[in-house]
Amino acid sequence: MLIAGGGIGGLAAALACVRAGWRARVFESAPAFAEVGAGLQLGPNATRILHRWDLGPALAELAAFPERLEVRSAASGRTLGRLRLGADTWRRYGAPYATLHRADLHGLLHAAVQAQGETALHLGSRIGALRQRADVVALAVRRDEQPQATEVEGDALLGADGLWSGVRAQLLPGDPPPRVTGQFAYRALLRQPALPAALRSSQVTVWLGTGLHAVQYPVRGGEWLNFVVLVEESEPGAATDPRGWDLDAPPEGPRAALQGACAPLRALCEAVPHWRRWRLCDRPPVAAPETLAAGRVALIGDAAHPMLPYLAQGAGMAIEDAAEIGHVLAMDAVDVPLRLRRYALQRWQRVARVQARSTRNARVFHASGALRWGRDAAMAVLGERLLDMPWLYAGQ
Ligand SMILES: Cc1cc2nc3c(=O)[nH]c(=O)nc-3n(C[C@H](O)[C@H](O)[C@H](O)COP(=O)(O)OP(=O)(O)OC[C@H]3O[C@@H](n4cnc5c(N)ncnc54)[C@H](O)[C@@H]3O)c2cc1C
Repeated sequence: MLIAGGGIGGLAAALACVRAGWRARVFESAPAFAEVGAGLQLGPNATRILHRWDLGPALAELAAFPERLEVRSAASGRTLGRLRLGADTWRRYGAPYATLHRADLHGLLHAAVQAQGETALHLGSRIGALRQRADVVALAVRRDEQPQATEVEGDALLGADGLWSGVRAQLLPGDPPPRVTGQFAYRALLRQPALPAALRSSQVTVWLGTGLHAVQYPVRGGEWLNFVVLVEESEPGAATDPRGWDLDAPPEGPRAALQGACAPLRALCEAVPHWRRWRLCDRPPVAAPETLAAGRVALIGDAAHPMLPYLAQGAGMAIEDAAEIGHVLAMDAVDVPLRLRRYALQRWQRVARVQARSTRNARVFHASGALRWGRDAAMAVLGERLLDMPWLYAGQ
């Protein structure tokens, strides 16, 4: 199996391929794996797969396992709803709700891939043109130190090369580029022992405001607090390349956004030493299985179905994709293109639903007026029944 991209999706897919009895070759353009990203939440739909892959103990060492999720008004600080996590999530779904640093999840998958010993991981290797033939797929790869691309061949290719996927561009010619949503994430990590006691937290808190929301949760066993402020912002330099997504940011942006917020939220914002700003892009929900696979090529993760992070499921869906790839690859008696077709058929409606819900959450989370009133009233009446999502957390 050739895999383009060594992010969460690419490494999870390498693990799944090897578990299905295949050998994997991963081509990653970055010369080294860096500590990119910030916090991630992983619902039990994703952690269940990591447990099945015997990664539960490693996850337990790196992640935090919050006892509850609390939704609060950003303006007044009032609690709008609560969802029990911790042991309750275990009981309901047979796996934990975890919060962790993206680099820790990536490192965990990387260590597992290396321990398996059946994956060749090529860093500094940028993929180019792909060609499908009846019995093989050929991929041009240019290594950093080489002026010329070389061609590699495999039985199949997975495009796990993220939002701006080159594999997708070739698989789906004429496909428009990702949507630039006009939403931004200001992200920060804070060392909890250095924070005043009132600002430390071991739970997930989601603060809902007009045109914005903020999320905080512990990572690295609770030693650090991940804090992200998600805003709708008009951008003065809108013509800048949307690929410049992860940039240093002055504190004025989040400060201005949280001007009218309650004191604890503003205090947390003031405690941030360093912000990074991410431009959020997505694509409309997948509309047909043909988007996910054709012939010997399949797309997974953000290459297949990028979404706003408002359901906290981008990495979770990449892990689910990888697990499904593992299932279909294990079907020895079936042609490879048929196996990938089956992957697409199994996955497209679920990922489309998650994409659509993520977009809808932007409207609901950032609502004002009657919609906000209705949202808050529904949360007060329905409580956990509204915040829990069995369709999502119980798996496909
Ligand atoms: C603010 C924010 C918060 C988020 N929160 C959550 C959350 O709480 N929970 C959750 O599950 N998800 C969350 N996500 C989403 C999650 O981070 C992504 O969905 C996930 O990381 C996608 O993984 P991927 O492997 O598909 O893509 P990527 O992580 O983008 O990996 C793609 C890889 O391909 C490589 N690549 C690209 N082009 C080439 C090429 N030509 N040749 C070779 N290699 C190439 C890249 O270098 C990269 O390593 C969040 C995202 C954001 C922005």
